[in-house]
Amino acid sequence: HVMPSNGYAALTSDWDSFWTRNLKMRIEDCFSIPTTLVPGRTINMLERVTKDYCRTFQFTGKLKEAVNLSSYNYLGFAQSTGPCADAVEEVVHTYGLSSCGTRLEAGSSDLHTKTEELVAEFMGKEAALLVSMGYATNSTTIAGLASKGSLIISDELNHNSLVFGARLSGAYIRVFKHNDSADLESVLRDAISQGQPRTHRPWKNILVIVEGLYSMEGSIVKLPEIVELKKKYKFHLYVDEAHSVGAIGPRGRGVCDYYGVDPAEVDVLMGTFTKSFGAAGGYICANKEIVDHLRLVNHSSVYGESMSPIVLQQIYTSMWSIMGRDGTGAGQERLSRLAWNARYLGSNLRKMGFIIYGDRDSPVIPLLLFNPAKIPAFSRECRKRDLAVVVVGFPATSIVASRARFCVSASHTKEDLDFVLRVVSEVGDILGLKMSSRQALEM
Ligand code: PMP
Repeated sequence: HVMPSNGYAALTSDWDSFWTRNLKMRIEDCFSIPTTLVPGRTINMLERVTKDYCRTFQFTGKLKEAVNLSSYNYLGFAQSTGPCADAVEEVVHTYGLSSCGTRLEAGSSDLHTKTEELVAEFMGKEAALLVSMGYATNSTTIAGLASKGSLIISDELNHNSLVFGARLSGAYIRVFKHNDSADLESVLRDAISQGQPRTHRPWKNILVIVEGLYSMEGSIVKLPEIVELKKKYKFHLYVDEAHSVGAIGPRGRGVCDYYGVDPAEVDVLMGTFTKSFGAAGGYICANKEIVDHLRLVNHSSVYGESMSPIVLQQIYTSMWSIMGRDGTGAGQERLSRLAWNARYLGSNLRKMGFIIYGDRDSPVIPLLLFNPAKIPAFSRECRKRDLAVVVVGFPATSIVASRARFCVSASHTKEDLDFVLRVVSEVGDILGLKMSSRQALEM
């Protein structure tokens, strides 16, 4: 088996055949929550009934109480009660559910324009384009920024939507080691000195694509180093903030906010609303010229249904709250709570002797299981103890770096996290996952 450049392939047939052929396990055994993760809507529908997204989970068809550490509900805006739910309910009565058209036809409303303006302001950019699906935002935008004769340089762990978008563009693609700016520089040097393969002509343009926060690793992009390289090598920079927007930075505005980098240093800030905002879809923020160009060439926007009014309202209300415009301070409280929760869970797991990947400020916390045989056991033992987690293995990770991935939310209470720590500690003892302090020192 060869590791694909993007691990998300693991969630498809490769994963299934790998396990069934090689380890005689059924795919259902490998995930603690197989049926709910795939049709994500099921969770939302149930959540409407059960009210609390962070504490109720459906395990293979049966609804039961569990602490949910597996959803990207970073700020808790996916909860079915609160200001978002109220505002969305109102919009259903005024705008309905569907926009019934594309942006360039009859699918534009004042809600689209005002939400785009708010998103652009939030990200510190001149303009924004909203697309109904996060995956499609990447996969259909990149072709509008690079084409045959362009060079795309991509982090080796970039999300499948970025890989797919880069391939669709027809540009020449080079990959650099994950979050390694020295390797990025050597790829840049090499590519620039050689020009295009065959012709040796200079590249039409160079686009470097990275993510803000890598959701399988918990690593935050080394943005300041990349910005330095950008000044030296004059490329365009595209940052996918699916997991970092609303999740990091003192004002929740993603990696630029986190490092205090001026958003003007990044040409394209892309993100999704499916995580911190508890909504759906994606955005592209850039200068007006780029956004106007993308309005005409982004196929999802030109040929696909525009964002639904209720989704727009969910985005608007949650972002308004994060920006503190509702005057309650609740948005800032969510940000602080998330930051505290992420550090609390991560540092206590480390103290217990688990190997935890990623940055200390990351709300995604990967816990190493190493041996792939421990994947089903870990999820099953957690599930028995009412803890819902996602587990990941080959080919999403290398064969020896199987892991469980915890997603912390601002809606988790300290009691929830203490419960998680107790359960994970117990399961860690059963499966021999903790390192002794001597082993830790030897690492
Ligand atoms: N980019 C990244 C980095 C992602 O992790 C994801 C999905 N988790 C997407 C894009 C696609 O977003 P969506 O799920 O909102 O379609």
